[in-house]
Amino acid sequence: MTNPSPSETHTCHVERCETIVPPKLFMCKRHWFMVPPGLRARIWDAYVPGQEERKDPTAAYLRVAREAIEAVAERERHEQRPETD
Ligand SMILES: [Zn+2]
Repeated sequence: MTNPSPSETHTCHVERCETIVPPKLFMCKRHWFMVPPGLRARIWDAYVPGQEERKDPTAAYLRVAREAIEAVAERERHEQRPETD
């Protein structure tokens, strides 16, 4: 049998976000665009092609990835707070 190995479902890295995204994408589009541009650039800088297949992201990538997740979580916290005038 030559069935392709079942690919794991890869979801957005943001907490509680269940949006399915291709493995090489770090977050769903909605969340990705909530990451500050400077941080997005740093993620691509730290990204090593193929790391999502080898599952061996570098420490630098993981660090900046965590920063991005925090940045999005922070923004969501602000957005959820109802603003009263
Ligand atoms: Zn998401």
